Amino acid sequence: MFTNEYQWPYSNEFGKEESVTSDILVLGGGLAGCFAAISAAQRGKKVVLVEKGATKRSGSAGTGFDHYESACTNPCSRVTPKEIAEAYVDEQDHYSNGILHYIGCRESYDRLLDLERFGGKIRDVEDEFKGAEFRDDETKFMFAYDYKNRYTLRVWGSTFKPALYNELKRLGVTIYDRTEATALLTKIVDGKKRGTGAIGMNVHTGKLMVFQAKAVILAMSRPARVWLFNSDLVGLCEFRPTQSIGSGHAMGWRAGVEFAMMEKSVKGEFSAAGRSFPPYGAGNNHNTWYAATLVDARGVEIPYLDRDGNVLETVSQRYYPVEGQKFFLKGGVIDEPKYEYRGPETMPFDELMKRGYQLPFYADLSRMPEMERKVIWGMMVGEEGKTKIPILQNYTKRGFDPTEHALQCYGSGWQSASFCPRSGSFSAHPEASCTTGI
Ligand SMILES: Cc1cc2nc3c(=O)[nH]c(=O)nc-3n(C[C@H](O)[C@H](O)[C@H](O)COP(=O)(O)OP(=O)(O)OC[C@H]3O[C@@H](n4cnc5c(N)ncnc54)[C@H](O)[C@@H]3O)c2cc1C
Repeated sequence: MFTNEYQWPYSNEFGKEESVTSDILVLGGGLAGCFAAISAAQRGKKVVLVEKGATKRSGSAGTGFDHYESACTNPCSRVTPKEIAEAYVDEQDHYSNGILHYIGCRESYDRLLDLERFGGKIRDVEDEFKGAEFRDDETKFMFAYDYKNRYTLRVWGSTFKPALYNELKRLGVTIYDRTEATALLTKIVDGKKRGTGAIGMNVHTGKLMVFQAKAVILAMSRPARVWLFNSDLVGLCEFRPTQSIGSGHAMGWRAGVEFAMMEKSVKGEFSAAGRSFPPYGAGNNHNTWYAATLVDARGVEIPYLDRDGNVLETVSQRYYPVEGQKFFLKGGVIDEPKYEYRGPETMPFDELMKRGYQLPFYADLSRMPEMERKVIWGMMVGEEGKTKIPILQNYTKRGFDPTEHALQCYGSGWQSASFCPRSGSFSAHPEASCTTGI
């Protein structure tokens, strides 16, 4: 029997209805939806934003992210937007949209400066990493992956959603949090179907919402969680947020919306199960943890190679293109990167097995220079979505010290996801990991 303590804390509004009108209706309050709403409000439009969760922390970026890609126009960058956009398209065998990539490469730095104006943190203003190889001491920007070309920034992504939320409020955007859009409203104008709004429901109270607008922007992210067999198993927990179930795609489809760019937005991303939570916490070495020193079960260091297969002698070398290579791509080119854009990575897994390296492997930050260790454990793991509390905070509380301990991980370099044992991934558990110092 339920006591009062367990009663539903919200009023019951089933059967009630509220109508809302605006110039622009934005469905989904993630990064894309917030920026769309801000941009429309800056142009003097009356904007309504509808978000299934709580805009301040919802969506893929709600818990943060650690690196900001394609900031090709930042003052320290040595690549042009065209070069990186072309490389992305080439990397994806031209099965992609060059215009979109170009816009991203050309404008993402501008949006980063917007985020800073709104209150997000994008520079090492406290000089915590002063003198580090990946930091520009003049701008206080910090870079990830390719330290020569400096077009990917390390950022304090956990500050971004609250900053966007404050800006939405400042601009007078009306936000309907905890409201799930369920269907689009359309009408025929000049023989063509046009979006005129959406129906939704307050997920706390059950109230029916009817939103009408001159234009509707769909920003409800991609379908990512739809193919997992059992969402209850923590070991299978998806990388993307629980809300990413493709409802935007579904309601667009039902309303007869014309779809574009599906080859890009859906390719290989129906489920990111390979990049699910456990490897993310304890050893993702293509992203947050790049390029952590890895050791095998005996404590023997796992070699990093340049793209030509030469063993790299120093940690620093892991962050530079090989001689004769203009730049290397990181982020988005996790599997089988093309030779031209391939960055330093650990020796292939099969080769490691052939040479007698023994599982399990560990990320051993204690063998890295202080700044590299500090930036991975303190900053990247702290800012990356989902890892701040479960990994950095929990492990630290239980005594994990990166100068002494190692964390069991699930792969080596680009292979991190491919041989991750899906069902047996529980050694990411703090107690298991923290007691396995080498
Ligand atoms: C764990 C993690 C780490 C990442 N790290 C990085 C990184 O370091 N660097 C980087 O560049 N990228 C990173 N990314 C990717 C990046 O965060 C996303 O590409 C970006 O945030 C997507 O923004 P979005 O607005 O399209 O989608 P989302 O942020 O997912 O927003 C979609 C919003 O729509 C809402 N919604 C969905 N359905 C409905 C509905 N029916 N009605 C109302 N609202 C709805 C959701 O609640 C959500 O808030 C990471 C992603 C994840 C998951």
